[in-house]
Amino acid sequence: MLQLARRMSRAKPSAIMMVAEKAKRLKAAGRDIISFSIGVPNFLPGDHVYAAARDALAKDSGQYGSNRGSDALLDAFLKHIEQVGLTGYTKANCATGIGAKHVIYNICEALLDEGDTITFPTPYWTSYVDIAEILDAKIDLLPCPAEQDYKLTPAQLDAALAKKPRVFLFNNPSNPTGMVYTKAEIDALADVVAKYPDTWVITDDIYNRMVFDDVGYHNFVNARPELRDRVIFIDSLSKTYGMPGWRVGFMAGPEVVAQAVTTMNSNHITNIPEIVTAAAVAALSGPQDVPSAKCVEFQGKRDQVMAALTAIPGVVCPKPHGAFYAFPDISVAFGKTHQPTGLAIGNDIDFCSALLEAKGVACVPGSAFGEPRALRISYTCPTPQLAPGLARIQEFFAELA
Ligand code: PLP
Repeated sequence: MLQLARRMSRAKPSAIMMVAEKAKRLKAAGRDIISFSIGVPNFLPGDHVYAAARDALAKDSGQYGSNRGSDALLDAFLKHIEQVGLTGYTKANCATGIGAKHVIYNICEALLDEGDTITFPTPYWTSYVDIAEILDAKIDLLPCPAEQDYKLTPAQLDAALAKKPRVFLFNNPSNPTGMVYTKAEIDALADVVAKYPDTWVITDDIYNRMVFDDVGYHNFVNARPELRDRVIFIDSLSKTYGMPGWRVGFMAGPEVVAQAVTTMNSNHITNIPEIVTAAAVAALSGPQDVPSAKCVEFQGKRDQVMAALTAIPGVVCPKPHGAFYAFPDISVAFGKTHQPTGLAIGNDIDFCSALLEAKGVACVPGSAFGEPRALRISYTCPTPQLAPGLARIQEFFAELA
């Protein structure tokens, strides 16, 4: 029988998508499902974005575009990142891709040879592991449990970088935990990074506009400008602008890395489509009222989620200050049984499966993110569904014994 390449034995479909698909199937079968599973922002971009796309359609050039990204898009991105203190970059430092996931994939492929080590904190965004596994990189996980607010400490980073990994991958604000590193925390981690010049740093900061409580967004390059020679900043339109399906992601970093991503693009995607590019420019440069309003809305939803979770005995949830996720430790439920259904809960997967079965609430098991004591709640559902969904989770806990 004809075989697939060996790397396909390491490739697996996204665990998050699998939960979302199951929730969709149950809904289609007539069940009343509230989905806290998939990490979509659940809003649409402003009218000016659609107007720009329609205009581009009317003026379609019929040509291929730039492998790196159009000049207009790169200029808009450069202005955008200046607002978070990333100044002095030029178009040669930037590249685009079909979403941040694609950009991260390209960068990992450009930086990691088979057997090279990539290190990152747990809990992690699932695709980091999936991408590293496809590339046959060694993964060095840095456990950051709820007891340390799911945050990496300078001592942990120091020990990890002393082993000279090729890549340190960082994510701030975090999916799945919603944690946001303070300025002091970023400064301390940047001091450690500065000690180890042999490691590339990818900082996946696609939620940088979704930060609450005046914590602010900070990054390693703000903290130590000399790190720009090896720090690669990742951004995306998906979450900030309500455009996940438009598929636009970015990087800013060393020219050699931006060129590598551009070369990779030339060998698979060629370019981001012209109409999408026009919409992306409009999103980045036009009125920012939609993303700003959504950030305020998400902060309010975060408060609702925290109020519901802290009322459940034994559940611990470090308070998220950004993105749109909460990541409660629900291990208090392990070893119990859901009395009305008789479903036994041995672990996070049992928990999520029983919760979906019994109460029609879909969450993603924490083991998908490397933390099997927790589950992820993505709270961007329509506002009228949030309170009932949270009430069902509370009921579910009350019915365990
Ligand atoms: N990075 C993180 C931390 C994410 O949560 C996601 C999407 O969920 C991505 C990257 C991918 O974003 P994009 O839609 O731009 O591919």
